[in-house]
Amino acid sequence: MAHPLITAFFGYLTAALCSGAPLQVAALHPLMADLARQVGGARVTVVDLVGEGGNPHRFEPRPGDLQRMQASAMVLAAGKNLEPYLNRLKDTLQAVSVIEVGSTIPSLMVTKDALHSDHPPDAAGTPDPHWWHGVENMRRAARVVAMALAAKDPAGKADYLANAAAYGARLEQLQRWARGELAKVPRAQRKLVTAHNAFAYFARDFDFELIAVAGLNDEQNNTPQELAQTIETVKKSGVKAIFPEFNANAKVLQSIATATATSLATPLIADGNGTGSNAGFEAMIRHNVNAITQALAAP
Ligand SMILES: [Zn+2]
Repeated sequence: MAHPLITAFFGYLTAALCSGAPLQVAALHPLMADLARQVGGARVTVVDLVGEGGNPHRFEPRPGDLQRMQASAMVLAAGKNLEPYLNRLKDTLQAVSVIEVGSTIPSLMVTKDALHSDHPPDAAGTPDPHWWHGVENMRRAARVVAMALAAKDPAGKADYLANAAAYGARLEQLQRWARGELAKVPRAQRKLVTAHNAFAYFARDFDFELIAVAGLNDEQNNTPQELAQTIETVKKSGVKAIFPEFNANAKVLQSIATATATSLATPLIADGNGTGSNAGFEAMIRHNVNAITQALAAP
């Protein structure tokens, strides 16, 4: 016969598992937090470490963040080298799984002229971390998160897969809507001049050309020569508008817009750092598609 203490322990364990205590998931990117909420539903509580409006490029975990990660069942990272501290973090966290959500999504490579000041200068030829601008990529990511959650909480597997499928269906609709809207932009205007080159996956999926403007989101990186070259490139492109970003340097862009007789469009959301009604993946895509269509579609 089992020892009463052991019986009591298993009784407690069964009660804990059946009580539906939610799984705590920590995220190192606002869009990974969004994904955990979409796929986890009522079975998870999400700790968004970067926070709404925060910049995942600049985030570095502090002791308080480490404690919240230690208390979580898993940590979701975007992956593709977005989080340069990830190996150190894995060593520190030991038993807590760190899931690089983007690692199985096919990469676009960073080209030399597409560097931005949030990328290390030796990033050329490495995977472009901004995979979250692909709607299909996000659909895949939802399945990755569903499987990761199911591994920690097998009883929830059917729920996670159902949530991922429902979310995926919504994203398919979003993709169709985005294609329809962006089709209003004439071929000659299908060019994105942006403050930071975060939009390679978006440009590939929606058939836009990216105009690389190095260092535009850091005023100190713009020498007068670089600025002159940028102005020349924008003039030659024939675009009607250029795109600032949330949290980026609109001052330099304003002077480029003035010098090239283009207009400054509504700021784009590059790193999932939209706030309020612009927070989250679907809202980010809607916002960006609307901003691009308004600025570049024929009047
Ligand atoms: Zn970025």
